[in-house]
Amino acid sequence: MHIVERPSPNQDERAGGRSPDLLVLHYTGMQTAAEALARLCDPVAKVSAHYTIDEDGTIYAHVPEERRAWHAGISFWAGDHNVNGCSLGIELVNPGHEFGYRPFADAQIEALIDLVADIRTRHPIQAHRVVGHSDVAPARKQDPGELFPWKHLADYGIGLWPETSSRHLRGAVDAALARFGYGIPPFVDWPLEKTIAAFQRRFRPAQVTGLWDHECGRLLESLLALVDSDTSRMAKVRD
Ligand SMILES: [Zn+2]
Repeated sequence: MHIVERPSPNQDERAGGRSPDLLVLHYTGMQTAAEALARLCDPVAKVSAHYTIDEDGTIYAHVPEERRAWHAGISFWAGDHNVNGCSLGIELVNPGHEFGYRPFADAQIEALIDLVADIRTRHPIQAHRVVGHSDVAPARKQDPGELFPWKHLADYGIGLWPETSSRHLRGAVDAALARFGYGIPPFVDWPLEKTIAAFQRRFRPAQVTGLWDHECGRLLESLLALVDSDTSRMAKVRD
């Protein structure tokens, strides 16, 4: 992990000495990383974050974790108003919706995963306490935005992602996949996950996980409706 010290004067004490237990993720929303770093360290701008992560994975440290950085502004989360007092803020370099929003770089996301793991050795921040700026200030902010890989990061406990587990739905999923025609255990000797992955590869090629989810359920429902109408059409033809 490559951390460069880039101190910002935009900081003060945490009221009541509260230890941070919330993590707020942002994008910088400026045309270049240099511009964003300059602004986060400019006393006139009165904004900052604890860290900024560039697209090449370089991490800049602006404000010590025990101090309050000024990143969230007017905000609310789970009972706390103005969450700067209880949170850490991490900026990710990205031009944002205003200047050409683009996917977050792999090196940047890897650095974020490492940084959060490191932060957790000091502050045990829970997965559900990792949020986006838009979560805490939805009326004003869109960052980090819809290109942010929340689903991927949930694997590292960085935020939550809804997923209906195949275990929960297994009985119904089995039956529905079988109705469509797929082989399922115990009638075949390969695991259900393989069948689910095959189903996804055919009907949802952009996301093949082997795990059942709501979208798969909707896709299969609509496929079964097509099968039903197809079957009744064939029956009429036969009549
Ligand atoms: Zn923000």
